[in-house]
Amino acid sequence: MSRHLLFIDGAWRESTRTHTIKSPYSGRIVAVAEEADDALMERALAAAKAAQTRFRKTSRYLRSCLLAAMARRIDEDRAKFVASIVDEAGKPAALADAEVSRAITTFTVAAEETKRYGGEVFPIDIDAAGRAYEPGTSLFVPRGPVLAITPFNFPLNLVAHKVAPALAIGAPVLVKPAPQAPGAVRLLAEVFEAAANEVSESRETIPLGALQTITAPNEVTGRAIRDPRVAIVSFTGSASVGWTIQSMARGKRVVLELGGNAAVIVHGGADLVRAASRVAYGAFAYAGQVCISVQNVWVEESVEEAFRGFLLDEVSRIKTGDPRAEGVLVGPVIDGKAADRITTWIDEAQKSGVAVLCGGKREGNVLPPTVLDKPGEALAIVREEVFGPVLNLLTYRDVGEAIEAVNRSKYGLQAGVFTDSLRVARRAAEDLEVGGVMINEVPTYRADHMPYGGVKESGLGREGVRYAMEEYSERKTVISYRG
Ligand code: NAD
Repeated sequence: MSRHLLFIDGAWRESTRTHTIKSPYSGRIVAVAEEADDALMERALAAAKAAQTRFRKTSRYLRSCLLAAMARRIDEDRAKFVASIVDEAGKPAALADAEVSRAITTFTVAAEETKRYGGEVFPIDIDAAGRAYEPGTSLFVPRGPVLAITPFNFPLNLVAHKVAPALAIGAPVLVKPAPQAPGAVRLLAEVFEAAANEVSESRETIPLGALQTITAPNEVTGRAIRDPRVAIVSFTGSASVGWTIQSMARGKRVVLELGGNAAVIVHGGADLVRAASRVAYGAFAYAGQVCISVQNVWVEESVEEAFRGFLLDEVSRIKTGDPRAEGVLVGPVIDGKAADRITTWIDEAQKSGVAVLCGGKREGNVLPPTVLDKPGEALAIVREEVFGPVLNLLTYRDVGEAIEAVNRSKYGLQAGVFTDSLRVARRAAEDLEVGGVMINEVPTYRADHMPYGGVKESGLGREGVRYAMEEYSERKTVISYRG
């Protein structure tokens, strides 16, 4: 069984309290995690502040070496990361492995971006008075420390999306992982410690206070959110917690990557076989516990029957059960509470007369992939974020009607449209109120260097390495009088 100590002020520390972590699949205890108390949090905040000046003055060369060494070491420790993500988050092994590969990409992109990112030059001589000045410079100055609060569903890569950009610009970062799955963060801190020691040299060193881990109960995290030493709160998680945290972080810069109920529009002329195959994967991979999982698929009425046939055929081939078993796509949801909530929403839809096109019996925390036939938009299963293996099949007559329906959601993370019409693709890209539109692809698509984030209740700000670096920086303008 693993023991997750906390990496604070350059050393591995125990706390006055711990919590146990159970496998969402078997219920077996897989790890014990230390939980920071107020004294440890105070120590971490002081160490982050102390590291700040030294860290921001390190060269881009050294920080790039650090990030590249971290990418390499994550790969070397791949098996440990995969085992931790499978055991603690219940993620199927192949998807956990893919998450580790993505984290390596995220760190590699950051190692490259740190060399390019520094500032901009802009002209001043745009009017008569400006002729007396040199071109202006806008320097990108790191803000920090960054408090990174992360969810259970990508215990490594969504942490990488906060840690790598912070390290790239030279801002210390404190990571508060989700209590259900803090193991990958512990392993990442081990990787950081080894990489920092590897690349530090007599001329310049990486301060070990640049990355700290602080698994903590909410009240201790809350005090850190309010603490004046924290300049940036970068949160990924549910909308309700995210917006509460924003209200607690007065005067700070806040980045919020929140939930959604992502939709796909399947237009009449689309390749229905491909659309059905991608929608099945996008809806059910990791039991739908991805913020951009497909939840509502809007299909043009004239092709609904054909699409439904292809979809149900795809779904019937999905393997469910033990996340460690070969080929399993749908493992458990994170805990019994989540399974109860999802089951209640399905029951509520059935009671209102909605037909279940496929589904079945819950086994422990494993719910079978479930497709519902035209549930009403007022039902929680359509309106709220399900975050489970449920897909709602809905129909429309005119594409404008489908776009309006998608835009009625309070969320706006990403959306997908399958079509053979350039006109429809353009219209969807222009009119859908979301942070990203995927054409002939599901909204579940994300490349780690692309700008990524939501509108409406789905969030504030953007991630995607370079874009998070911008969120964590301040522009400082320098003007020189030439005479
Ligand atoms: P959550 O909101 O329950 O928890 C997220 C983090 O916030 C955890 O570390 C948790 O311990 C912490 N937290 C919870 N309450 C807190 C409080 N009162 N004070 C301080 N910290 C608190 O989310 P979750 O269940 O871990 O993750 C699932 C959610 O995350 C879904 O809504 C999903 O859509 C969203 N998510 C969004 C993205 C994105 O990029 N937009 C990515 C992944 C997950």
